[in-house]
Amino acid sequence: MKKLYFLGAAANYSRKQRLAHTFAIGTKNDVEDLKDFLRKKYDGRAIITKNGRSALALALKHNFEKGSRIIVNGFTCYAVYEAIKAAGMEPVFVDINKEDLNFDLNVLKNTKADGIIVQNSLGNPVDIVAIEKWAKENNAKIVEDLAHCAGAKYADGREVGTVGVATALSFGKDKSIDTISGGAVIFRDKIPKIADPRLRPRLSDHLRERFYPMFGAMSRGLTHIHLGGAFMKFLVATHQVQRSADNRLETNRKISKFEAKLALRQLETLENEGPIRNFFLVKDREEVLKKLREAGYYFNGFWYEKPVSPARYYEKVGFPEESCPVAVEVAQKIINVPTFYTEEQLAPALKIINKYVEKN
Ligand SMILES: *Cc1c(COP(=O)(O)O)cnc(C)c1O
Repeated sequence: MKKLYFLGAAANYSRKQRLAHTFAIGTKNDVEDLKDFLRKKYDGRAIITKNGRSALALALKHNFEKGSRIIVNGFTCYAVYEAIKAAGMEPVFVDINKEDLNFDLNVLKNTKADGIIVQNSLGNPVDIVAIEKWAKENNAKIVEDLAHCAGAKYADGREVGTVGVATALSFGKDKSIDTISGGAVIFRDKIPKIADPRLRPRLSDHLRERFYPMFGAMSRGLTHIHLGGAFMKFLVATHQVQRSADNRLETNRKISKFEAKLALRQLETLENEGPIRNFFLVKDREEVLKKLREAGYYFNGFWYEKPVSPARYYEKVGFPEESCPVAVEVAQKIINVPTFYTEEQLAPALKIINKYVEKN
């Protein structure tokens, strides 16, 4: 049978990880151990949450006044927008550059705000010294969002998550720490007097998160007989699989304990200095995708297909396309390739992509 390569559907899970995920048993101690680890690693008070957006919402709520203007990368995930809105604040999208998909510093220079969320797109670190300078001049605070970049280092050697007033982590699907769902916030400056989340995870969420890596493997297997897509659609329609963007923001909901255990394991062995995906800007993406599929590469669900993704939430955001033209263009042209595949595995795909590449 021809080997197939995937971007999503828990393709980053090895067979061993899949089994560990399906059968792991977590205890209250695992959550406490994870908290302790994060408290030491990022030097602050940690709270473990059900997902990254809840962590980010807490980070904002306890560091800024309601109505504050918060700068966001103009090329991001809906979860970030949702967190800002949930905290009662105003997102200010700043356009990106094509080199690392982070802020265009010339645009940033002329933007006023109370805070800035640093995302380090796809694991590419921002010029943190320039951001700190902007923050100082504007009397603004930095919040670091490690969904893409846990373990990465800035150019000056500092690790991401050790700079801002607060650090948010996501343990969601395809993130740099991936336990399907989960998150954490570390308050590094003002320590708020708030309790840990109290509500237990919903059983339906727990089961979905538990079985996603297995369903993903089944779907990947079925792709050999062209039924993988239909199977995934069926699972989503019958609520056995939840699309990442639909994972609800709830600041008072606990993580599933087994996910805390697995997240800690991943954090302890974290040595992810590089990006989680390499990206290319191509002409005629549809054509490239078709060619890739013919060669056995099922690369869809890119970060990001819209400046704020996924596409089905894009309208809701009211994204300022006029002021972020680069983000709009990049979203039309980007293809990103997971770094969990070896160079050898990707060689045929890169050959196809390189024929269409505009710039990288
Ligand atoms: C996915 C993501 C988050 C948070 O995701 P959750 O699904 O809520 O865990 C935050 N920031 C970025 C940039 C992301 O891609």
